[in-house]
Amino acid sequence: MMIDSYRHKGLRKKLVEEVRSKGIQDENVLAAIEAVPRHFFLDSSFVEIAYQDKPFPIGSGQTISQPYTVAFQTELLQAGKGLKVLEVGTGSGYQACILAEMGARVFSIERHHSLFAKTKKLLESMNYKVKLFYGDGYKGLPAFAPFDRILVTAAAPFVPEALTDQLKTGGMLVLPLGAGDTQVMTRLIKQEDGRLEEQKFGYFRFVPLLTNKAP
Ligand code: SAH
Repeated sequence: MMIDSYRHKGLRKKLVEEVRSKGIQDENVLAAIEAVPRHFFLDSSFVEIAYQDKPFPIGSGQTISQPYTVAFQTELLQAGKGLKVLEVGTGSGYQACILAEMGARVFSIERHHSLFAKTKKLLESMNYKVKLFYGDGYKGLPAFAPFDRILVTAAAPFVPEALTDQLKTGGMLVLPLGAGDTQVMTRLIKQEDGRLEEQKFGYFRFVPLLTNKAP
């Protein structure tokens, strides 16, 4: 069984202050980071450093995003209570739990079957009511569309049309956009007439969103 000790809680408080000092202001995002035991999402050898503001390997060549990056994307998404949110790239499930902690109804897709299975077990054991799917995030989840918010947590070389199609009017899509080594954090807001307003928020580095057949 996994233990969330006072020491872990103390480390989380420190992490919240670090992320705050780097510019994150949304108190709901900060409260979620304080609430979710990040060390549950890392392999045991990394538990001691789960609360550093760094990304870490989670198996299958993938990484759990740095807490600051999770906070930054979550703040941009403005994902409050009751909103229906689609995440592309479940990975460890940490980001999905941050969104769930904020009261969002979370759907998340992962293309690595081993990661999908491992994370499904973990989130069930933690009692998070996140709906996880094994599949290709480029296609979104048409059966559950439309969504208030869509968050892509891997580098997208272009904006997948299925995702903008599955966005409500007034809805937001946040994704790291770019095919190279770095991506531009981008927010698209769907207008009444279906047009997408584009806003840009600086450079980040993500693992790529993959197109080939899911392993
Ligand atoms: N949000 C995760 C970190 C994501 S890392 C967390 O909180 O831990 C990016 C994830 O996207 C990886 O797990 C990778 O396997 C997944 N991925 C890559 N291409 C994908 C695709 N086309 N559809 C769904 N998931 C994809």
